[in-house]
Amino acid sequence: MKNSGILIVVSGFSGAGKGTLMKRLLEKYDTYSLSISMTTREPRLGETDGKEYFFVTKEQFEQKITENGLVEHAVYCDNYYGTPRNYVEEQLIKGKDVILEIEIQGALKVKEMFPDALLLFVMPPSIEELRRRLNGRGTETEEVIEKRLQRATEEAEDIEAYEYIVINDDLEVCVDEMHQMILASHNVPARNMKFIENMRNDLKDLSKGE
Ligand code: ADP
Ligand code: 5GP
Repeated sequence: MKNSGILIVVSGFSGAGKGTLMKRLLEKYDTYSLSISMTTREPRLGETDGKEYFFVTKEQFEQKITENGLVEHAVYCDNYYGTPRNYVEEQLIKGKDVILEIEIQGALKVKEMFPDALLLFVMPPSIEELRRRLNGRGTETEEVIEKRLQRATEEAEDIEAYEYIVINDDLEVCVDEMHQMILASHNVPARNMKFIENMRNDLKDLSKGE
């Protein structure tokens, strides 16, 4: 039986290493399709439009919402972020595992719409290390970092909604662990009900002597 693609939602505190992990996961394994989100935040140094994000104005973003062009969207630290619908639907139909790297409000909406989605929450090994990573990235002001840490305190309250936590200490170990979690998740009975029902029916036919 060929497994069909699943929707994988990856969330985690700002600076936990989600972007770094996704990049490495995609380099190492070619079975994943990463959704590129739309945002109204300013590009960081080194980010390009269409690669890390589609960078748009508030008006363009609101137009996309009106057109029902987003699977979900949320406001995070004063900016809009959202998942374009077309790409996700196309890749799932092709049988690919599609990754959405999104924050918690969006993750909860996706879980409501797609109950079979796999929700993973990336955590740093400690809060000291989180701060070191946020400061070390050097892309936000101290004020924005404080806002993001404040948001992390709120996000920490909802971690139980996720299926697994992923602790990003050693990057390579973490990438492999994440890949293994995804592989194992494909074989959860609830994600294979068609296959199971077919086998049940075949067994019934067999016992009827057909
Ligand atoms: P996020 O996408 O979760 O906000 P990033 O991927 O931008 O986080 O990572 C934040 C910073 O931490 C970056 O400077 C990145 O190079 C660094 N980083 C990520 N993962 C690790 C790791 N396993 N060990 C050490 N530094 C890391
Ligand atoms: P950053 O500005 O650090 O790139 O992202 C800020 C937060 O927005 C992160 O938690 C990231 O996962 C989240 N995010 C990125 N894209 C989306 C999206 O399409 N939808 C939602 N809900 N959150 C997103």
